[in-house]
Amino acid sequence: MNLELLHPRNRIAMIMDLIYTNGMTTTSGGNISIRDEEGNIWVTPGGYDKGNLTPKDIVCVRKDGTFEGIHQPSSEFPFHKAIYELRPDLNAVIHAHPPALVSFSIVRQIPDTNIIPQTKKFCGPVGYAPYKLPGSDELGKSISDIFEKGYNSVIMENHGTVVGGSNLFRAFQRFETLEFCARSIINSQKLGGYQSLTDEQIAAFESQDVDLPESEEVVHTTDEKELRHEIYSFVKRACKQNLMISSHGTVSMRWRGNDFLITPTSLNRRFIGHSDIVQIKDGRREKGKFPSKAVKLHQAIYEQNPDIHCIINTQPPGVMAFGISHKVFETRTIPESYILLKDIPFIEFGDHLNGLDAVPQAVSKETPIAIIKNDSVLVTGKTMLETFDRLEVAEFSAQSLIESTMLGDLVAIGEEEIDDLVNKFLK
Ligand SMILES: [Zn+2]
Repeated sequence: MNLELLHPRNRIAMIMDLIYTNGMTTTSGGNISIRDEEGNIWVTPGGYDKGNLTPKDIVCVRKDGTFEGIHQPSSEFPFHKAIYELRPDLNAVIHAHPPALVSFSIVRQIPDTNIIPQTKKFCGPVGYAPYKLPGSDELGKSISDIFEKGYNSVIMENHGTVVGGSNLFRAFQRFETLEFCARSIINSQKLGGYQSLTDEQIAAFESQDVDLPESEEVVHTTDEKELRHEIYSFVKRACKQNLMISSHGTVSMRWRGNDFLITPTSLNRRFIGHSDIVQIKDGRREKGKFPSKAVKLHQAIYEQNPDIHCIINTQPPGVMAFGISHKVFETRTIPESYILLKDIPFIEFGDHLNGLDAVPQAVSKETPIAIIKNDSVLVTGKTMLETFDRLEVAEFSAQSLIESTMLGDLVAIGEEEIDDLVNKFLK
């Protein structure tokens, strides 16, 4: 689906709805704009309910400054305009006050996007714009000065954040990824701090060879289509449940033998369709399609673990606090956590690129989940539902562990009780 063919009004209403329903803007805060091919700027209206925005509410500001619409343009329109004037490569701007990024803005800090490769790739280095009165030309200058230096993501001092993109969907991925980055860092601070990657480690990750030979012809059988639908449904559900964001995450399912289906690379996870999913047969990728960068890792896991039929690797903000702090993820907290997650080992960053033997051996029926440091959580299972449930339990458990640090010392379930759980549920 080419979302760029939607009218700017529809694109803006669609993305504002996503931002609002995902808790990244309040009813009154935040604004979005698109610059179209003729140079008109389409922008959200000022002081209007963001939870009920429809395409007809969007205002068009023409190049000569006149506007068309049933409302006034956003009071923050001056800085949107100032950014477009200095950055011909940007055609969409999103501004809001999402909670984790506002936390950074009010302690006057910038989130470190080197925590995982994707946060660096999507957000780049983050700029910082000094405080100015909302709606003023001075605020426009404060922000556009930073964009002029080449930054695409900016923290606004004591205010919020603003990001730009070549189109609105890319801007949204950047916005959502930056809030995820800020949230993961805040969560990791509750665990005692985080460790980030060097630029060299990220460059090595980005330059890895992940291509597979292309298949000559493709047959879509009924059971293949069934898996396709299952992957599609659970990617949607993972995004809805805050277990996956639009820029990260891979889901695959074993099809026949060691053949499998896997989500594509680069595409916005929130808008993946059935036909975007890639078939991998006899080690070849479906003609004309490019699988996730994790394809060789998933392939190696299926080849070495006949019991595993589904793999999800993703970055939920609670589990990733462990992924970047490298603190032990204690699963002996409540019976549900231990029964579903068992013990969770760490895999060193880099082993998932080079050591394709090391990772498949780290996961098994006995160890269904592993955390790849500064990358993702790798969850496996016999079925999609079992794998997804594990992922959800892992994220809930991580959130509880993080919040418990504010209350007191964790008291784990004792050895004897664990033995009883193993005997009753895991044998
Ligand atoms: Zn604002």
